[in-house]
Amino acid sequence: MIGGCQCGRIRYAIAGEPVETTVCHCRMCQKAVGGPFITLVQLRPGQLTWTRGTPDEFRSSTIATRLFCRDCGTPLAYVDDDTGALEITSGSLDDPTRAVPTRATGTESMLHWIGGVPSLPSRTTGQNYANRNKRPVVSFQHPDQDTPPDWTPGKPAQGMVG
Ligand SMILES: [Zn+2]
Ligand SMILES: [Zn+2]
Repeated sequence: MIGGCQCGRIRYAIAGEPVETTVCHCRMCQKAVGGPFITLVQLRPGQLTWTRGTPDEFRSSTIATRLFCRDCGTPLAYVDDDTGALEITSGSLDDPTRAVPTRATGTESMLHWIGGVPSLPSRTTGQNYANRNKRPVVSFQHPDQDTPPDWTPGKPAQGMVG
């Protein structure tokens, strides 16, 4: 598995299969991702290699540190002080479909509307931009694959917009 931040300054590679994927609804994880919950892919020591750049750190408590990209703000990982275990955010994977959660924590803070998300009126990204009669949208997000060493953040790429 490979992945990285939205701007592409930080990239990583995971050797072998992860231990498991979990969801955490706690308030600290909600804040850390700016979303309703975090989805973390738990790794064994040494499984992850930073292949481009190194992430920045925020100590969110006396027991853990959060890793992120200072340029684009993408939350990348949670690191437990005691075990050194690193858990990567599933949304930063190039293929997040491979990380299927099997357990949830922090359920005391689970938002009451979570269960209704699949039932919301919805459109695809393409449908959402179909009637956009303005200038074309160019994505500055790093593509969902590794790029050559001379690739630089901000270079227009094909793919999803938003
Ligand atoms: Zn970035
Ligand atoms: Zn949490």
